[in-house]
Amino acid sequence: MCSSRQTTQKPDFPARTAPRVGSLRELDAAIATCRACPRLVAWREEAARVKRRAFRDWEYWARPVPGFGPSDAPLAIVGLAPAAHGGNRTGRIFTGDPSGDALYAALYDIGLASQPTATHRGDGLELYGVRITVPVHCAPPDNRPTTGERDTCRPWLARELELLRPALRVIVVLGAFAWQALRPVLAEAGWQLPRPRPVFGHGAEVLLAHPGGGRPLHMVGGYHPSQRNMSTRTLTPAMLRDVLRRGADLAELPARPHHGGPRC
Ligand code: SF4
Repeated sequence: MCSSRQTTQKPDFPARTAPRVGSLRELDAAIATCRACPRLVAWREEAARVKRRAFRDWEYWARPVPGFGPSDAPLAIVGLAPAAHGGNRTGRIFTGDPSGDALYAALYDIGLASQPTATHRGDGLELYGVRITVPVHCAPPDNRPTTGERDTCRPWLARELELLRPALRVIVVLGAFAWQALRPVLAEAGWQLPRPRPVFGHGAEVLLAHPGGGRPLHMVGGYHPSQRNMSTRTLTPAMLRDVLRRGADLAELPARPHHGGPRC
């Protein structure tokens, strides 16, 4: 774990470092060393120091949380940021919090995950054809990164999508924050965004052309499986499954629901 005595880095650390890494493995390792956002570095380490009572025996990860899933995934899922006592504790994105419980259960139900639960790194979870990532890799207070923090973190996501690009066909975008954050990233990567700007919504779909002869990219919007959205039933497990299944279909991933059928 990083010591709180370490200083933060200059805000351009991601912009200087991300373009130089040559693989997702290197990228994930580089992300985990990032200390470019002073407020988020302080918050992630404070959460690890104070802890939640239920997790007092845990040694929190307390670092940036990289993406998770294979490097040749045709489907990417982009969320918001790690939770202070979820990914920031376990070191794996969407792992150990209610959002992750909902997301991985849905992925399992549609055959894209090896198990319905995600509790810790090393719990055996595998993803099939799916890579999950976030535009902000450190847990923010109140789950609200600033636009400055989002922009500082952007080069990590830009490089991740670049490395995924040979196989990437579809991005399922969970929430309006990720939808906004992706726009400049996709434009920088050469994909053409339609005008007028596509508006986020659950089930919104956009096809982005790649004028360089690259493969077009589908974007599918979906509500974020936050505890709030799930408890108010703004997003139900069936809605989440449907939007993920739509992404998987566009990515031409095989349908292979597990034997028990979806849970409600
Ligand atoms: S949010 Fe991103 S840029 Fe900021 S410290 Fe974390 S990994 Fe680095």
